[in-house]
Amino acid sequence: MTDSSLKFKEQVAIVTGASSGIGKACAIHLANLGAHVVVNYSSSQDEGQKTVDEITSNGGSAILVKADVSNEEEVKAMFNETISKYGKLDILVSNAGLQQDAPFLEMTLKQWQKVIDVNLTGQFLCCREAARIFVEQSKKPQENNHNELSIGKIVLMSSVHDVIPWAGHVNYAASKGGVMMFMKTISQELAPHKIRVNSVSPGAIKTPINKEVWSDPQKYDGLMDLIPYKRIGTPRDVAKAVAWLASDDSDYVNGETLYIDGGMTLYPEFADNG
Ligand code: NAD
Repeated sequence: MTDSSLKFKEQVAIVTGASSGIGKACAIHLANLGAHVVVNYSSSQDEGQKTVDEITSNGGSAILVKADVSNEEEVKAMFNETISKYGKLDILVSNAGLQQDAPFLEMTLKQWQKVIDVNLTGQFLCCREAARIFVEQSKKPQENNHNELSIGKIVLMSSVHDVIPWAGHVNYAASKGGVMMFMKTISQELAPHKIRVNSVSPGAIKTPINKEVWSDPQKYDGLMDLIPYKRIGTPRDVAKAVAWLASDDSDYVNGETLYIDGGMTLYPEFADNG
């Protein structure tokens, strides 16, 4: 274990899209803090297995589960497998997402639909299953060992593009804008059940999704113009915020979006008086 505080000891977490990037970092960080982690992947079994191996070699507990988050049956099967293996669920990190970029005038319905299906409908399917399990668990007092604290925590992976428009990426920006209102609405609806729902909105984080930008020195310099803090984020920067939102330390935080962006949403172009 790399962290001795183990604030998630005996808690069970599902992290979707945990075979790479931010999801992988979240899975490893939660496991290092004591959680049993369900590492979800959709296509790359080898990469998913690497996440599991890293967790178990640190002394942590994890299983690998394949599911396409946009497929209702596969999502249900993933949650069923989690309950079969660990007997309960405490945390969902609904992270899986992708980009399929094109100028608006050229974007195909297939490109639009794919991104909405994974980034928005995938959140709906995973959050609904998690919430159903949390509500059922809350009816069994012996499993609700949190007393007055939340009985289930959901953290959605959004993006700064839930507030920053993004030409050439309308499917992605629309999906993340949708994630914000989805998160706020279910947060309002689920709070009386003592289920907390919040989002994390990363800025530019160094992962495979944006390799084309950070691997090109000229594009990297251009990116720095958008980041007052003058560095690209790391998956671990995001994982630490996710862990806080999933922990009892944030028990009175509900329906919020936490921007992890080095100030990207601070309108940096106005820093010199615009
Ligand atoms: P990534 O490409 O490394 O990870 C995305 C993960 O989602 C992969 O593991 C992929 O296999 C998985 N995935 C894709 N489609 C899936 C499906 N149908 N079912 C299950 N899993 C699926 O990129 P990342 O940067 O780590 O992205 C993770 C999340 O963070 C995404 O929601 C993305 O929109 C968001 N995000 C990333 C950045 C960034 O700068 N990297 C910024 C803002 C938001």
